[in-house]
Amino acid sequence: MRLILLGTPGAGKGEQATRLSKKFGIPHISTGELLRGEMDEGTPVGCRISGFVNKGELVSDDITQAILEVRLQEADCFPGFILDGFPRNLNQAEFLKKALRRMDTRVDVVLNIEVSDSTVVERLTNRNRKDDSPETIRHRLKIYRNVTAPLVDYYDTAGILKRINGDSSLEKVTKRILSSLGQTI
Ligand code: AMP
Repeated sequence: MRLILLGTPGAGKGEQATRLSKKFGIPHISTGELLRGEMDEGTPVGCRISGFVNKGELVSDDITQAILEVRLQEADCFPGFILDGFPRNLNQAEFLKKALRRMDTRVDVVLNIEVSDSTVVERLTNRNRKDDSPETIRHRLKIYRNVTAPLVDYYDTAGILKRINGDSSLEKVTKRILSSLGQTI
């Protein structure tokens, strides 16, 4: 199963991806985590991107795509994967389509986790991440609306989008996701 999770920052993508990863035994791939890993290790890429990540700006497509493609080629991705935080714009979506085609595969389902603004603010202010200051949160939400949200129509047109109401407890949202995939816990 090859899944993409879409949704605003704070929609609960990370938590849901972790749960689905356990349930299906496939890796949860978060480009945010991969990029933070580069920063924590102080790699040359990590040094180049830290200013962007800490301000809530998107990292360049070239860097993110290269890191993602390497990860997708690891053996554990062969049975499937859950993407969280990628693609973030239409260019990355097109890249992903081509990269998967080169690997003779494609995305099966895109889940759009839909939440109200109040849920987003509540969830983000309860996290403890460096890029979760009120100003950065506002900026990341603006980028989401302007640059990432068009992916919802893109995948709807492709016929693989499922909309999930994310305004409930993590457990309830997981149940909704699984039932939309025709699975039970
Ligand atoms: P996330 O953990 O998905 O909220 O991502 C945290 C930060 O990492 C974002 O605000 C961006 O700076 C960067 N990032 C993560 N994924 C991408 C991506 N696909 N393209 C560009 N930047 C990204």
